[in-house]
Amino acid sequence: MLKEAQYYQKKSETDVICGLCPHNCEIPDGKSGICKVRTNRKGILYSDNYCKVSAIHLDPVEKKPLYHFYPGKNILSVGSIGCNLKCKFCQNSSISQISVSEFDNAKIIRPELIVSEAEKHRNNIGVAYTYNEPAVWYEFMYEIAVKIKKKKLKNVVVSNGYINEKPLSDLIPYIDAFNIDIKAFTDEFYRKQTKSSLKPVLNTIRQIHSAGKHLELTNLIIPGLNDNPEIFKELLNEIINISGKNTVLHLSRYFPNYKMKRNETPHDTMMNLFHIAEQFLNYVYIGNMINTEGNNTYCPNCGELLIIRNRYMSRLIGITNSKCDKCNLKIPIVN
Ligand code: SF4
Repeated sequence: MLKEAQYYQKKSETDVICGLCPHNCEIPDGKSGICKVRTNRKGILYSDNYCKVSAIHLDPVEKKPLYHFYPGKNILSVGSIGCNLKCKFCQNSSISQISVSEFDNAKIIRPELIVSEAEKHRNNIGVAYTYNEPAVWYEFMYEIAVKIKKKKLKNVVVSNGYINEKPLSDLIPYIDAFNIDIKAFTDEFYRKQTKSSLKPVLNTIRQIHSAGKHLELTNLIIPGLNDNPEIFKELLNEIINISGKNTVLHLSRYFPNYKMKRNETPHDTMMNLFHIAEQFLNYVYIGNMINTEGNNTYCPNCGELLIIRNRYMSRLIGITNSKCDKCNLKIPIVN
């Protein structure tokens, strides 16, 4: 099932330019863009992954990760195929670094069926667009999101943030929460490790925050590549500049994957960066690591324990109506 893509222009009779993400690929007839899932056929750009689902699961919302958005609820999580980044450490390369024709197990599921699936489950808040980069299945995601909004359910986007301003601004009104992956604070890292660039990701974070949407960030810490404490502090200052001290940050522990073979991030590195981040931001968490102090939510004013988390289970114990039970501070949690 093919769908004509949005956000492209004709460059000549046969060639097109895709304007969905900052790569702005020039694509000759018969070829695909960097993401491998938008293909020019005789001067028309198609979204090859329209209605093609690689994974669909009911997950705890904490798994996205979102810790301040309906804690304790589930969300129907949907993935497709392809990605516009080429991360050497990709955790989902079997669905993200291939074209649609290379993926054998896609299910064809129309938007209305995803919506009815979302309505079926109790304790489900809506649909999350995740697993692979949702920007590269924009048309499919958008159609589902419009329908989900009409049903008064929630839409969540988990993304690398590498998308152009116009498609993002068209999508934002339908999306309730974002988790954006900020991979590092140097352009060199983005260029060498992901074949993309940093600035558009910062622009995306700014655009989402300015639109007043719920926003959490994830930073995967890779030893020797993005664990320099001084550069990490620059990243934290930039986050404060863009979206403030209440921005929720998830520090995620790297494990070897795909083309990256270096050892997993040491426990001490994670804890050191966690304690640095706590001095800058009010809500910092650690992912991919068990038994750490970085799972729970504490009141930044009085220190009261507000939410206990055990893996993906949340228990709200010191918070009522998004306020600390002890000192009444408003906590940025959507509930
Ligand atoms: S979405 Fe794909 S085809 Fe379009 S500009 Fe980005 S990488 Fe290129």
